[in-house]
Parts: sequence; structure tokens; C-alpha cells
Amino acid sequence: MQTSTKTSDEIGSLVDACAPQWAILGRHIETPASYHEGVAVLACKLGRGLFAARPFAAGESVMWFTGKIIDFATVFARGMAAAGNPLQVDADRYIDVELHGLYVNHSCEPNVGLRDSHRLVALRPIAVNEEICMDYSTEMLERCWTMACRCGAAQCRGKIVDFDLLPAAVQAERLRLGIVQPFIVRQLAAQPNLSER
Ligand SMILES: [Zn+2]
Repeated sequence: MQTSTKTSDEIGSLVDACAPQWAILGRHIETPASYHEGVAVLACKLGRGLFAARPFAAGESVMWFTGKIIDFATVFARGMAAAGNPLQVDADRYIDVELHGLYVNHSCEPNVGLRDSHRLVALRPIAVNEEICMDYSTEMLERCWTMACRCGAAQCRGKIVDFDLLPAAVQAERLRLGIVQPFIVRQLAAQPNLSER
């Protein structure tokens, strides 16, 4: 795990341009009542993970992340070991993720992706008892938290990093699928040479 020098002030300066209307500091993000039906927390090779309790068709909603909206300073004041749990939804806004979202592990070959900032959809048919994994990089643009990856996928990148630091072909594929957080898409459009900083 490594850190870099990005400060909350630098990130905060980007907020006004791209804040989703609902990502208001302190607000609790709710979801449809059935948000966690169809998934279960079970043991997996890396501890615990979220698994499909029923089959999902490609394109089907699998679950919604819920929790209170917090900022960068709050996330990283907890220490780096816990900093990977919140879901980044804007330059200085995170969902302080609750059950069951807390157990969604990363894969460099994900079977779900983010839509509407906090909804996971199936990228292909998912079978019962299959682990539900997303690509954490599709919601990361903060120049702070990284993690070594042991997902075991054939295309494993070896390290979980900010979206703009991914190989260009991987960025293009994730963008084509529409599973990159909107604030990242907007920021890359506004600053196309972001990864060269
Ligand atoms: Zn990996």
C-alpha cells in the first residue's frame, strides 16, 4: 500500500464543478427496499465477499451502495487500512459504505459495474454462488489510496490505482461499458492529460 501527496484542499477545489446533486455532505443515501435481495455475504479466498444468492441476467441491477456521504478528510483520517472501504462518488465525496456493499471485493476482470454512481449492474450473466466483484479503479480518482491486487484474474494488473493511471485499453473498455463514475468521466474530459501530472 502506498500513499501520495494529493491533499484534501487540492481535491476540494474540484468539487463545485462536478458534484452530483444527491452527494450532499452528511446525507444518508438510501436505496430501494429490495436492494440487498439476491446477494449474501459469505467466506471467500480473501476473507469475506458478496455472492449471488440467485442468478442475474446481464444488465440487471445486483445491489445498491448505501451509507452517509462523507468527505476526503474524513475517509483518510481513519487511516489507510480503512480508506479503501468508502465508495468515491465525487472529487471530495464518498459513500461511507454499509452492508452489503462493504463486502464487494475488487477484480481486474469484474462481473459487475457501477451505474448512477452507486448501483451495481451485472456485466454478464452471473450464476448462483458466484462472487460479485467490481473494478475499484472505476470509482477512484484521488491520488491517495492504492492496494496490491491478488484477484487472480488472468488480466490482473497487480495493483489497484486511480482510473486515469490504468492502461489506455482498460480505460477505454470500462468507459465503453458505462461503468466509470460520472465525476471521473467529466474530469478526464476537462483535463485530458490528467495522468501525465
Ligand atoms: Zn487484479
